[in-house]
Amino acid sequence: MNAIEIKGLRKSYGGFLALRGIDLEVEDGEIFALLGPNGAGKTTLIRILAEGLGYDSGEIRIFGRKLSKKTARFIGYVPQESISYELLTVEENLKFYADLYDAPKERIYELIERFALPRKKRAKELSGGFRRRLNLAISLLYDPKILILDEPSTGLDVPSRRELWELILEFRREGKTILLATHYMEEAEALADRIAVMDEGKIIALGTADELKALVGEGSVIMIEGFLRGLEKLKGKFRLVEKDGTARIHVKNSKESLPGIVETLVKSGSEIRLMKIEEPTLEDVFLKLTGRGLE
Ligand code: ATP
Repeated sequence: MNAIEIKGLRKSYGGFLALRGIDLEVEDGEIFALLGPNGAGKTTLIRILAEGLGYDSGEIRIFGRKLSKKTARFIGYVPQESISYELLTVEENLKFYADLYDAPKERIYELIERFALPRKKRAKELSGGFRRRLNLAISLLYDPKILILDEPSTGLDVPSRRELWELILEFRREGKTILLATHYMEEAEALADRIAVMDEGKIIALGTADELKALVGEGSVIMIEGFLRGLEKLKGKFRLVEKDGTARIHVKNSKESLPGIVETLVKSGSEIRLMKIEEPTLEDVFLKLTGRGLE
């Protein structure tokens, strides 16, 4: 049975259509990622599922039952922002939420141990990584079958991000279904069994990372790093995305295209530091589908 089933979901804010007909099935026990740039509608979709935000039309089922207050118990939600009380300790925060959710008290100590949380520290003294873990612990108090995470690793340093990913993978091993929203393709790729690529309120592609990359088609990507000038001259000929001094250029045949590309850039005054020929990434998939980069 599917953990989550969504058919024809539409949601507008005033006259603005934020979700334009979403169809989606998340299987029981999988990690499913919504990948898309800011404003794609990921948070809106998640808030409808996890917070009871109203919607215009469509059908949503959680383990076969219509989404309602009764299905809320199946879903744990980890929002982007911290949900703990700054002046309360870790333990006091968990006690507060355990009371609110009517969760068993033993669960608090299980979670403190599991996430290696500093019991007596106030929330405001926690690092970003520990705050996120406390959020996660709170969402797991009533042991939900589905865990929904909004941009789980935004703002975390690399080690905390890896630790969080490990925890998420562990939840799947324990049989939980995980739906996460992200605009980091690395995150979607590292975690998700399947990925829905979202843009402007629609799902524009859905599949495993490999299936999505196959959409880019034949060819490879030339990655060039450095002080780059003259990229606009290449834009007419190739699909190209540029970010933080790195250009990714899609070519059918890298051997044939490389000399011309380098010549154009160097003649325009570029200083090339690094050049690599790579397999397509999910960023390239997004570029192919929308003509834009992910961030
Ligand atoms: P982000 O990563 O920035 O949260 P997102 O993909 O989650 O992006 P949403 O937050 O769902 O996107 O926003 C989708 C669109 O709906 C955006 O254009 C946003 O400006 C708009 N929107 C979101 N919330 C509201 C609101 N409360 N009122 C009006 N417009 C909104």
